[in-house]
Amino acid sequence: MSKVVGVLSYQGSVIEHMKSLSKIEGITPIEVKTLEGINTVDALIIPGGESTTISKLLKIFGLFEPLKKRIQDGMPIWGTCAGMILLANEIVGEQAHLGCMDIKVKRNAYGSQLDSFSCHKTISEFSESPLPLVFIRAPYIESVGKDVQVLCQLDGHIVCARQNNMLVTSFHPELTEDITIHEYFCNM
Ligand code: GLN
Repeated sequence: MSKVVGVLSYQGSVIEHMKSLSKIEGITPIEVKTLEGINTVDALIIPGGESTTISKLLKIFGLFEPLKKRIQDGMPIWGTCAGMILLANEIVGEQAHLGCMDIKVKRNAYGSQLDSFSCHKTISEFSESPLPLVFIRAPYIESVGKDVQVLCQLDGHIVCARQNNMLVTSFHPELTEDITIHEYFCNM
């Protein structure tokens, strides 16, 4: 049976996630901006972009609490980059966030836009082959709670983790041709 996977579509790498999802059999990707959308999807991706902007729009559209409730009720959710910041329980320096996952996140942890970079790394939870990882003004995770599974570290910093129905990546798989992590998420 086909599953509906939404991409929160206020701002950021929405089209790119939609494209990656459209390559996966049995998945119907939809853009989500409204409460109806939140209640329709089987799973949701919060894309990379600007976490302050996305959080303001979530509030303006009245989705902050309904989205948090669906996540707490177990809906699979994947936050890439800005999306990871929004899911965190704690952010260094504080800003509005959903506060769902037991991680402490540092924004812009690698520096400015000019310090963006890419590399390849094997993340055994997803695949035995190295995956392309793209970091754009990326955050990393400073610390995790006991229920959080650390999936990838880079230079001693956590850049990918999972806690039950919640997956977060500091990097942007949607900006590559590789759909390994999208497929993994669709199986969650
Ligand atoms: N630096 C951005 C923020 O703090 C995230 C960047 C990204 O999503 N590529 O929201």
